[in-house]
Amino acid sequence: SITTSSRVNMPPLPKPSLDEYDAIVIGGGSGAMGMSRRAAQYGAKVVVIEEDGRLGGTCVNVGCVPKKLMWHAADLADALRETPEYGFGDAEGKPINAEPKFQWRYFAEKRDAYVRRLNGIYDRNLEKDKVEYLSGHAKILGPNEVEVSLRGDDGKFDAGTHTIKGKKIVIATGGRPTKPSEEQVPGAHLGIDSDGFFALREQPKRVAVVGAGYIAVELAGVFNTLGTETHLLIRHDTFLRNFDPIIAETLQDYMSKTGLNVHQKTNIKKVEGKEGGPLTLHLDTGKTLEVDTLLWAIGRRPNTDNLGLESAGVKTDDKGNIAVDDYQNTNVPSIHALGDVAGKALLTPVAIAAGRRLSNRLYGGPQFANDRLDYNNIPTVVFSHPTSGTVGLTEPEAKEKFGEENIKIYTSRFTSMYFGMLEHKQPTAYKLVCAGKEEKVVGVHIIGLGSDEIMQGVGIAVKMGATKADFDNTVAIHPTSAEELVTMR
Ligand code: FAD
Ligand code: NDP
Repeated sequence: SITTSSRVNMPPLPKPSLDEYDAIVIGGGSGAMGMSRRAAQYGAKVVVIEEDGRLGGTCVNVGCVPKKLMWHAADLADALRETPEYGFGDAEGKPINAEPKFQWRYFAEKRDAYVRRLNGIYDRNLEKDKVEYLSGHAKILGPNEVEVSLRGDDGKFDAGTHTIKGKKIVIATGGRPTKPSEEQVPGAHLGIDSDGFFALREQPKRVAVVGAGYIAVELAGVFNTLGTETHLLIRHDTFLRNFDPIIAETLQDYMSKTGLNVHQKTNIKKVEGKEGGPLTLHLDTGKTLEVDTLLWAIGRRPNTDNLGLESAGVKTDDKGNIAVDDYQNTNVPSIHALGDVAGKALLTPVAIAAGRRLSNRLYGGPQFANDRLDYNNIPTVVFSHPTSGTVGLTEPEAKEKFGEENIKIYTSRFTSMYFGMLEHKQPTAYKLVCAGKEEKVVGVHIIGLGSDEIMQGVGIAVKMGATKADFDNTVAIHPTSAEELVTMR
């Protein structure tokens, strides 16, 4: 990690410039950036407190951004395997080596340099919008008071303490990965988590990923596509169980065909070995598995430790997330919470949008008096291989909500033209979930080449309340995969 002294640009400040701010924003990630910059653009005096020594939060530093770059690398590995069939050869016309060696360390360093550039851009954005930035740990002392323990160059929070007041306090502290305790799984600490994935400097030869959500599937996909022997250990029969079955089934079937070892109904009982591997995993199936790296991707928990929630009486829900209403209000009138720490739709654009809307409502004048983020129909993508996208209700959810007799399902499975002429084929599968006589499209679930980029436009249509007839009335774009969405029978 970088220290404050290696910064070339302005913030953080050595101490707060004011005793009282309009808003104290705790955290320097997606939600905090969205909220604080929008508030300052309305003229509010805002300070952001971030403890990590760099801005950007999970998404920029150990989430979406470095993950997507790893996904791109893996995607290229796939494409390279296909170059001979697309007619590429070397200068003599001989096929290019279709199994090139990925230089993990080289790429990780290049990726991290890009992330550092983004950290600098975030610094400058705060400066441009006149948001003050303090590098340190924030602890709430009361409904309008926060203590900041400044971070020194050594990463310790011993560079001075300041108490500041805020008319509002906004908690946007995000979350962090969880691992089983040593009581649950002896040796669990020998495994890494998604933060540890980004710290890897060598590509493991054999890896076991435990979990069944976005992170498990995405990171197992990256390892597998880049040539690591990859084992995905899931507790049930399928992964991505919250997604529509068309995505989960198509992806699991395809990933298994590309060499990913999916161990269904499998849990780790004990881990033996040493830090950095190799490791022996004792499974509850009675088998053992030898790997170099074990990666836990079993969910995340909110960052509320040592935050002082009890001092102000801020309530949490049964999972420890900060309880908020539809307007990001906590039970304490001067304190708001948003983003991952509020535990709903843990996605960067959700945190940003919730933050901006909150600032609109607090500082944007009467026309925004009721502004809030609508959490319905949020489109989202899993950066799997191939990618998959989803918006709205899954088929089971729609049946539950509207009754089976009021639901019409349209599905299409095909091979995109890109793969049509190749020996190796990736699947494409689309599903429209329609409700009522008017066949309102209440859910779209797609998997296949380009689904990540296709999904945003589909998200707009569903958000606007499009019907199947609206889809059908849209002229297709040919030749694409997406055209299938407007020609389904
Ligand atoms: P964060 O970004 O986590 O920011 C919170 C910040 O608060 C942190 O920087 C933390 O250091 C700081 N903090 C915590 N406590 C304190 C304190 N007491 N004092 C001061 N500072 C504090 N989302 C997507 O939309 N697309 C993706 O492709 C995607 N990929 C992901 C991949 C991975 C591996 C992971 C882990 C997440 C991914 N996400 C993705 C989710 C996304 O990163 C989060 O939803 C998003 O970062 C949440 O933003 P936030 O502002 O709520 O919290
Ligand atoms: P998730 O909560 O999405 O998934 C974790 C899954 O792991 C659970 O759903 C569960 O699935 C399984 N699991 C839980 N406990 C255990 C256990 N003890 N042993 C084995 N499996 C277990 O968490 P993630 O960490 O994957 O991601 C966190 C969030 O970050 C996501 O929900 C998403 O919102 C966001 N994110 C978004 C991305 C994107 O937009 N592309 C990418 C990455 C993250 P089951 O019950 O089926 O076993």
